[in-house]
Amino acid sequence: MLGKKDYRGFLREPVITPITCLHCGRQYHYELYDIILIPETRDSIIIDVVVCKHCGTVDHYELDSEISISLLPHLWVFPRIKDLKAEEMHDFTVVPGDVRPIDGKKMTARETVEYYEGKFSQHPTNPEYIIGLANSLRQAKRSEDAEPLYKLALQYDKKALDAYINLGQMAQARNHLKEAYNYFAEAYQFLDKGNYYRIYQEKDIFKTAFFESFVDVAIALDEPVPLEVMEWLEEMED
Ligand SMILES: [Zn+2]
Repeated sequence: MLGKKDYRGFLREPVITPITCLHCGRQYHYELYDIILIPETRDSIIIDVVVCKHCGTVDHYELDSEISISLLPHLWVFPRIKDLKAEEMHDFTVVPGDVRPIDGKKMTARETVEYYEGKFSQHPTNPEYIIGLANSLRQAKRSEDAEPLYKLALQYDKKALDAYINLGQMAQARNHLKEAYNYFAEAYQFLDKGNYYRIYQEKDIFKTAFFESFVDVAIALDEPVPLEVMEWLEEMED
């Protein structure tokens, strides 16, 4: 019988799993360090950015079913560590999480894609559903399918903040920094007067995370950032 201490050691180990790139079709093993596992739906959200070892495509892959098998022990351990606080789990590679219900139902990533595909086919010009579908595809690790949808959303709503942020993040992950900078600069314009569709984070937390990415990209490119951004981050550090 393992004690709580041993569980902690186990939960810090990377999850090594086969992943098949949807762009080139090659399968390799990857080490993952940042996974949210949802006990209720037995689904997992991979936070790690996975770059194909063959073609360099970012976050566009099929998760082989082996990951569910690798995560079964975690499902078993979670009820035994449920009294741990969030800060005690900060260095765990797999943490328990929850999903926001859609239409009153908690769905897996795959079910969420199907749900929004249905909505999008009924309302193909509604930015709300276009962004919903794009987000669900991104979460299901189909970034190359999500990207054109964010651009489509901007055709119907130039102030769709979600679209600029997601396009910027994806460009940054691909190391297309100039493109990322341009999207972040657009997002900055619409921070107060834009439309938020699926950004549920508390405003200050969202703003801080966004500004950090904006500054990272700007510094790498030696581009300017608005003074307000630097002031905000300095204030947050205190
Ligand atoms: Zn590939």
